Amino acid sequence: MAGDLVPADIEKETHPWSYDGDAAPDGASPVEDGILASGCEALAFYKSIHAEKKAPYPGKWGIFLLDYALNYLAREIERHYPGKFPFPVRVAKGRKLLYFHERFHFRFDCWVLAHESVTGRPLYEDYRNSIYRCFHPEDFVYEESLANLHALRAIAREGIATYAKAFMLSQPGAYSNIIGADREEFLGRLAAQTFYGRAQIVGEPHRRPEHVQYIANSKDDRVRDFSCPVYRVIGVSASQFSVPSIALPTLSEIENRFIRAYLNGREGTRTDHRYFTIDNGQKIKGSSGFCVLLS
Ligand SMILES: [Zn+2]
Repeated sequence: MAGDLVPADIEKETHPWSYDGDAAPDGASPVEDGILASGCEALAFYKSIHAEKKAPYPGKWGIFLLDYALNYLAREIERHYPGKFPFPVRVAKGRKLLYFHERFHFRFDCWVLAHESVTGRPLYEDYRNSIYRCFHPEDFVYEESLANLHALRAIAREGIATYAKAFMLSQPGAYSNIIGADREEFLGRLAAQTFYGRAQIVGEPHRRPEHVQYIANSKDDRVRDFSCPVYRVIGVSASQFSVPSIALPTLSEIENRFIRAYLNGREGTRTDHRYFTIDNGQKIKGSSGFCVLLS
C-alpha cells in the first residue's frame, strides 16, 4: 500500500494539512463508493498486532487514519452543521469518530490475545478467516455493529452525534445495524464467534454471555488504549485504496480450511460456483474470493 505514515495524536494536529475544500464533489465520490462497500474501513483501519509483520506497512500495527477520509469528514460535518465548526475542529472531530470505531477493534484484539495465551489457540486468526473476512459486511459480523455503537457513544460529547448516526446508517450490513441494537447480545455472539467460528452462525453455542462485561469495556482497556499506535496515512487517494483489513480469503482457503475442515462440508452441484452442504443441511456457496451462507 502506498502512502507515507506520520504518527497521529487524537487530541491535536501534528502534521501540516492540505485540505481539498468544502465544496462537495459532483455525484458519488470514490470515498462514498468505498463507504457503501466497506463501511468505516474505507476511511480508516485497524491492523492487528497479530499481523504486525504483514503488509501493509510491515513492522507496524495500530490504527491507520487516511488523510482523504479526514478531508471527506471535515466536508460532511460542514454540510451538516454549516458554519458551526472551523476546519481544524472539523478535522479533529472526524479523526475522533474514526479513532473511536477502530479503538473497538483494538480492544477486541486485546481481549482475544488474553484468551489465546490461556487456550494456546490462534483464536484471532481463525476468527478473521472463518467469520470476518468471509462474511464482511453481513449483519452477523457483529464486530462492526459493536465498533459503530462504541464510536456513537464515545462521540456523543463532540456535538456531531446526528451526523455520526447518519454516517453509520449509510454504511452496509452490520455497520448500520445500530438502531435498537442489543449490545450485550452482540458481544455475547462475538465471543462465541471467537471460540467457535462458523459454528456460531449455523448452530450452537450461539452466544457466550459470560464474556460480555470483559470485551472492550474494562478499566484495563482504557489504560491499554495508550499503547495502540495511531498513524495518519498521507498521499493515498480513495480510488486507489483497497481495504487491507478485509482482504478476502481465496477459494482454496475457504474450501480447505473453513468448509471441509470445520464443517465437514460435502461438495454439491457445481456450475460457475461451488455449493457445499454443511452439517445442519444449510448450503454454502463458494466463489472466487468470497463465500455466502444460503438459508
Ligand atoms: Zn470496523
